[in-house]
Amino acid sequence: KGLKKYFPINKGILQRKVGDVKAVDDVSFTIYKGETLGIVGESGSGKSTLGRMVLKLINPTEGEIIFNEQNFAKIRNSKIRKLRRDMQMVFQDPYASLNPRMSIGELLEEPLLVHKTIASKAGRKEKAHELLEKVGLPREAYSKYPHEFSGGQRQRIGIARALSTNPEFIIGDEPVSALDVSVQSQVLNLMQDLQKEFDLTYMFIAHDLSVVKHISDRVAVMYLGRIVEIADKDILYKKPLHPYTQALIAAVPSTDVTVKREKAALKGELPSPANPPTGCAFHTRCPKVHDRCKVERPVLTEHGPGQMTACHLYTTDVAAAKAE
Ligand code: SF4
Ligand code: MG
Repeated sequence: KGLKKYFPINKGILQRKVGDVKAVDDVSFTIYKGETLGIVGESGSGKSTLGRMVLKLINPTEGEIIFNEQNFAKIRNSKIRKLRRDMQMVFQDPYASLNPRMSIGELLEEPLLVHKTIASKAGRKEKAHELLEKVGLPREAYSKYPHEFSGGQRQRIGIARALSTNPEFIIGDEPVSALDVSVQSQVLNLMQDLQKEFDLTYMFIAHDLSVVKHISDRVAVMYLGRIVEIADKDILYKKPLHPYTQALIAAVPSTDVTVKREKAALKGELPSPANPPTGCAFHTRCPKVHDRCKVERPVLTEHGPGQMTACHLYTTDVAAAKAE
């Protein structure tokens, strides 16, 4: 609720603060139990920062994170450990997130030790073997090291490690972006199977809409630190309202050659979050920009069942102005 993360910009010898990079700027959303919320945006849109804040790996500048009715943003450190068990993260680069000097067995048992979930050594070993089986790796993996595995296998290990504390909620920060396309779908399928088996809730971060399409129930689109559209997946892909979402969907390669997509290619680069455009932050690249967009920031509002959009094209004032 109202999540913000501002990083100060300091300049000169005195390192005087000259401004803020508003990496995440007033973002509110809900993730329902058992669903997958996809979060999509170009790099620099703030999606990873948002994910890290939700897990409190970084502290929000402002805002609330309510998990099972507790405000996680304000909770005391002594209680954080329990919540940490319930919320886990799968990282983009499985190689960087796995300590190369630890065996797979040690990597899987470490969270069990830290959280004191299984007291006996034999019990932890048994749990590690069980986790390997759940993610489709052989028992022999237990005594091997991360470098002995392929990218896809390492991501399976990352997933097994995230599962070790029996979490309720997992954030995937571009968990398949570094993998070959053929391996991507295997890992996505695995994540979907595990979601069903363990009743997991996912927040799934990706930089394009094609990856989240299969796994998500709802999708939120981010642009320069804000959510510009959030909707049920089917609605978002069939009837995107925000011009930015429309451009992202046009960029998804279509497998159906008979469908001629309107090429609403995105012009220009993502502006710097240190100096975002006034009004609607997308106005410098929007094919439908009008005067109002440059001065007034559109608010995320409901424009259909399960669909919220932040764009002046759909606000009643514009409709009234057009009718005049
Ligand atoms: Fe485009 Fe204006 Fe809508 Fe922003 S508010 S997306 S600039 S039409
Ligand atoms: Mg990122």
